[in-house]
Amino acid sequence: MTLPVIIVGAGLAGWSTARELRKLDSATPLLLITADRGDFYAKPSLSNAFAQGRTPEQLVGTPAGPMAQTHHVTLVAHTRVLAIDPARGVVTTPGGEFTYRDLVLATGAQPIRVPIAGNAADQVLSVNSLQDFEIFHTHLMNASGAQGHDKRIVIMGAGLIGCEFANDLAGAGYQVSVVDPAARPLAALLPAPAGEALRDALHNLGIAWHFNATVAAVDRPTGTGALQVSLSNGVQIDADIVLSAIGLRADTALAQAAGLACERGIVVDTALQTSAAHIYALGDGAQYASAGGRTLPFVMPIMNAARALAATLAGQRTELAFPLMPVTVKTPALPIVIAAPTPGLHGEWTGPEPGLWQFIGTRNQSLGFVLTGPHTARRSEQSRLVQV
Ligand SMILES: Cc1cc2nc3c(=O)[nH]c(=O)nc-3n(C[C@H](O)[C@H](O)[C@H](O)COP(=O)(O)OP(=O)(O)OC[C@H]3O[C@@H](n4cnc5c(N)ncnc54)[C@H](O)[C@@H]3O)c2cc1C
Repeated sequence: MTLPVIIVGAGLAGWSTARELRKLDSATPLLLITADRGDFYAKPSLSNAFAQGRTPEQLVGTPAGPMAQTHHVTLVAHTRVLAIDPARGVVTTPGGEFTYRDLVLATGAQPIRVPIAGNAADQVLSVNSLQDFEIFHTHLMNASGAQGHDKRIVIMGAGLIGCEFANDLAGAGYQVSVVDPAARPLAALLPAPAGEALRDALHNLGIAWHFNATVAAVDRPTGTGALQVSLSNGVQIDADIVLSAIGLRADTALAQAAGLACERGIVVDTALQTSAAHIYALGDGAQYASAGGRTLPFVMPIMNAARALAATLAGQRTELAFPLMPVTVKTPALPIVIAAPTPGLHGEWTGPEPGLWQFIGTRNQSLGFVLTGPHTARRSEQSRLVQV
């Protein structure tokens, strides 16, 4: 009997691995086990769906059934892998054990949660999956309190996802406030003038910023429908919904329990193998040797990793070398492209022209860049200048 390759997780990493492997190998049985429905969708579209008036159903790219059929995959949906036994080469689910030839962990990341006081702290939402988005969408449609587009949303976090949701929801007419401990949006990624330009562009869209502050408590005082959000600086904001977008943490619980090396993510070598033979990982859950031991929770790293892993699984051990992968921030109020310098490299941001910043290293070379507004069209030109 030919043992299958088992993939755990039906996100972009899981499905991309299946698709890439099928290009090279049509014979090996492929089993995909996933806790969710298994529908294929583009997660980035979750943070620009409202302005386009797209419902959760409209965000499904290919439903699970046709996706499995196209790629000759046996799909085991609504099933959580509970344990891995690397010595026996089996995974355990509530429905029984499955034996693998090779195992791919594509289990993603989980939203970070911080302690918040108040009787409605458990009503803070976060969106990291289509299911989360369905819940958020339903809450937004049903929220009591203000009517229609007068609904008030407080977003915790002015990072990539917080800013994208803020732009999307404000663009769709909702009243949006954003709370962040930093002094401006995307503070960890952008040089100060670029962050200030984004702050101003989103302010002009009606977004109320609350910088140098965090959400301390969320309450629903009896007798009213609205939430009361108390900030660390004493400010109080009334809201219909609170959305947390303070970041993700790689989901390492399953790998860790199986004894696999985990740090910020599941540790993988340059061929995406974990510390156990025949077990691989990629996607938001992986910590890549090819990226200097970083996690890379973005689409382009997943596409590159899936291609390399498929070649390895098809019998040709392939080392992964990431190219430069600039990230597009989906803030139409001020479009931004970021090619962040590798953490730890020495240099400083310079702004040679309006809308262009380069991170210049000690040998006067470009190590990264930021483009805003119409200058985002210069992504290829600036990418060619970067020396990684
Ligand atoms: C709102 C939003 C917008 C984004 N926009 C962009 C963008 O514009 N550009 C960009 O590059 N990146 C963007 N990203 C990041 C990008 O979408 C992610 O990096 C990518 O989708 C992660 O895919 P994944 O397959 O690794 O993880 P996930 O999509 O999280 O998939 C994990 C899968 O594993 C399953 N699973 C987990 N544990 C188990 C278990 N024990 N048993 C069985 N199944 C399990 C889950 O059910 C799920 O199917 C965005 C992210 C978000 C949240």
